[in-house]
Amino acid sequence: MKKPFVTLEQLQTITETYPTPFHLYDEKGIRENARALKAAFAWNKGYTEYFAVKATPNPQILKILKEEGCGVDCSSACELMMSERCGFSGDEIMFSSNDTPAEEFEMAAKLGATINLDDLTHVEFLHKTLGYIPKKISCRFNPGGVFQLGESKEGFQVMDNPGDAKYGMTRPQIAEAYTRLKELGAEEFGIHAFLASNTLSNDYYPALARILFQLAVELKEETGAHITFINLSGGVGIPYRPEQPANDIAVIGEGVRKAYEEILVPAGMDDVAICTELGRFMLAPYGHLVTKVLHQKHTYKEYVGVDACASNLMRPAIYGAYHHITVMGKEDQPCDHKYDVTGSLCENSDKFAIDRMLPEVEIGDLLVIHDTGAHGHAMGYQYNGRLRSAEVLLCEDGSTRLIRRAETPEDYFATAIWD
Ligand SMILES: *Cc1c(COP(=O)(O)O)cnc(C)c1O
Repeated sequence: MKKPFVTLEQLQTITETYPTPFHLYDEKGIRENARALKAAFAWNKGYTEYFAVKATPNPQILKILKEEGCGVDCSSACELMMSERCGFSGDEIMFSSNDTPAEEFEMAAKLGATINLDDLTHVEFLHKTLGYIPKKISCRFNPGGVFQLGESKEGFQVMDNPGDAKYGMTRPQIAEAYTRLKELGAEEFGIHAFLASNTLSNDYYPALARILFQLAVELKEETGAHITFINLSGGVGIPYRPEQPANDIAVIGEGVRKAYEEILVPAGMDDVAICTELGRFMLAPYGHLVTKVLHQKHTYKEYVGVDACASNLMRPAIYGAYHHITVMGKEDQPCDHKYDVTGSLCENSDKFAIDRMLPEVEIGDLLVIHDTGAHGHAMGYQYNGRLRSAEVLLCEDGSTRLIRRAETPEDYFATAIWD
């Protein structure tokens, strides 16, 4: 069973100060999880998690993660600017972008960020843009084909299609990029790859690590490049559904260590730092979208209308993603009513749940929509003039702090030209 990280009583108090809907984040959970991740990779001397800013671009969240020793992974000018304002600089910033504008390479270089090149042509583009090649540089690899793990009767545990993904360089291209970068003055090289998203398997990172470690050994031989870091990127998932098993980060870290001992150490590459760029794993479970039931509608189906909508959480509408829902105060009641839980957008896809079994819901009930801490508020938009909600932090001491105010009509009108 999925349990909210707040009680009904706590939420009733919180909603006296902050009107629904809002995203609520659990500082304690965020910190504990970040520490568990760090411990899982403590065997690797240079290990760093670069939090994927796009998942939860909130300065207070970034500052918490900074205190826990994380860097940031940025992919745009705004994310770089936010990271700089939060005090990140130099080696603490990874810039993993694609289809990158020249100005953003310039900004990343100025901040001393580690630039991760998505394409072979970006070698010359970067050289032309900056007039030099940074001493430390990374290239993104895409092995093509299909990436599969753990076949069973139910299918594959993990399956994704790198061959269809727009990211990264082919095997011959990455060797060519290394050779050219070396000619242009690069001295420290990294490899990056992101082969599957939201994986629920302790084998994803170890399997990816094996591919990248093997590649590192080959590239070192072929190009003479000094490889100092390998970036496993994001993709470690979380159990959105209550019946799914969670990943065990300690087991994942140990799996990567074994691959490291088997492949890199015998090749004399025992000083390579491991990097990760986790977003979802770092934040998703530690965010709730809190919303109130406004209406009930009985037509061809039973509808529960809430005061949040897809502007606050887009994943169900665009991917059909499952987000668990708890009707607060009714956790022990039987789930014997079937509902569509909807927002107010003039879009039929604006449903947080379809045919969901829940306890009998009443107008005024508070609902917690789970696992909205990553790719939740961040993906918000303003369609239909429904504005993005506030973000509230549930601090370790149980107090709450507003960490982003809700948008107002003035925000919405601010970019319009009125006459
Ligand atoms: C989105 C993204 C991540 C984070 O992915 P998660 O699924 O949230 O872990 C990391 N690196 C890059 C380059 C990304 O685009």
